[in-house]
Amino acid sequence: MKKRTAWILAMSFGCVASMGIAQHKAQDRRQYLDPQTQVTDDPRRVPVKPGPRGPEGTVVLRGGRIFDGTGAPVREGTLVIERNKISRILPPQATDWPKDARVIDVSGKTVLPGLIDLHTHLSRGEDQDFAASISDSASTLIALEKLRYFIESGITSVRDVASRSDVPFRLKAWVAQNRIPGPRVFAAGQFITGEGGHGTEGVPDELVRMDGETRVASGPDDWRQAVREQFHNGADLIKLGSHFTAEEVQAAVDEAHELGLKVTVDAETFYIDRAVEAGADTIEHPLPRSEQTIRLMAKKGIAADPTLVPYMIIFDTSGGYFDTTSRRFTFSKEANLEMLRRLKRAGVKCGVGTDLIGDWYRHLPTVYITELKQFVAAGWSVPEALSAATRTNAQILDMDDRLGTLESGKLADILVIAGQPDIDLDDLDKVDVVIRDGNVVVEHGQIVIPRHVPVREWKPAAM
Ligand SMILES: [Zn+2]
Repeated sequence: MKKRTAWILAMSFGCVASMGIAQHKAQDRRQYLDPQTQVTDDPRRVPVKPGPRGPEGTVVLRGGRIFDGTGAPVREGTLVIERNKISRILPPQATDWPKDARVIDVSGKTVLPGLIDLHTHLSRGEDQDFAASISDSASTLIALEKLRYFIESGITSVRDVASRSDVPFRLKAWVAQNRIPGPRVFAAGQFITGEGGHGTEGVPDELVRMDGETRVASGPDDWRQAVREQFHNGADLIKLGSHFTAEEVQAAVDEAHELGLKVTVDAETFYIDRAVEAGADTIEHPLPRSEQTIRLMAKKGIAADPTLVPYMIIFDTSGGYFDTTSRRFTFSKEANLEMLRRLKRAGVKCGVGTDLIGDWYRHLPTVYITELKQFVAAGWSVPEALSAATRTNAQILDMDDRLGTLESGKLADILVIAGQPDIDLDDLDKVDVVIRDGNVVVEHGQIVIPRHVPVREWKPAAM
């Protein structure tokens, strides 16, 4: 009886989605995947040939303080990694691992899931002459340097929310093949916006095209087309920005979801209303929005990536946000922190991103720690802030079945800190070991690059 009433109610409202309770989720298409089929470790879930993945052998992190990111209290334990996965978490005294395992003593140290940064632009350069800053080669080199800063800060995944050209996609592939050290890259491709919208402000058209980071779209069909272009290039998610009409953002969100991708939106005020109505998955930045919109975000399960730290830097270095048509509304450091409090009060899921443009990545890991401290200032406990940086971020990435917590079967993206970051966030700068996809990429806080190994035998033929 109850079931029937609910069904009639749903029908009378047109569909469940229009009631704002359920919405089409990007991963819906995964129901068609055969669970036995091996797929890529990204939201695209592209089928790949079966076979072992990750480096050969076993790595043991012996006798550490385990912060697993699930909300459980810290406990003593030993973590066993086989190839690219966490195989077991053993009690502290256990020693049942293969004899040839590589054992790293982490006693007194804290073992936690690798941190995730939800908001970066890998190809966007530090100050240099303009011609160099818009070349693909300079963008790639800058991005390569950023990858180093991220991984040496214990950040094992980054979400690239717009970069030029195919730079983020190539870096993603090279990191995945362990050919360069760095975090996993989840890339949006180009930023899709309207003429004169964010990403084009104060820049002549020809420069927007030359820079290549922004895709200007016009009309619902073109917004759909712009989404398809990013998918074609290999996007793991779609990034949209104001301004847009309600029809345009709806078309883009629908297209992305049909392609199995989540959507994040950089917008303010009534543009956020339109994105939320359209069923976007995440809203970036702490920009102004109404209390009603915040409540709707919570109700529809739409997450926030507040990114307070870049705005703190802007306010500290420039005194405010000037000469912009998409950030023109009054806001301040205090208002941004208050926005984070309001999101928390309403029960909106909040993730951690830093948006380190220019040369700000050189302030890592301090800037990332500062972002987490804002969460604590807004009411999160220190362990809750760390879980936001790991588990919640993995959920927002659409990767929580594989990343974000230390549990057997999950991918081995692990950070070892010579301290207690669950008590004192400043300890996060005491990075000791970082493991990504089962590869030990950082030791004693520094990238390790093993000597190359020839991949195939070759001898010169007799002359
Ligand atoms: Zn950004």
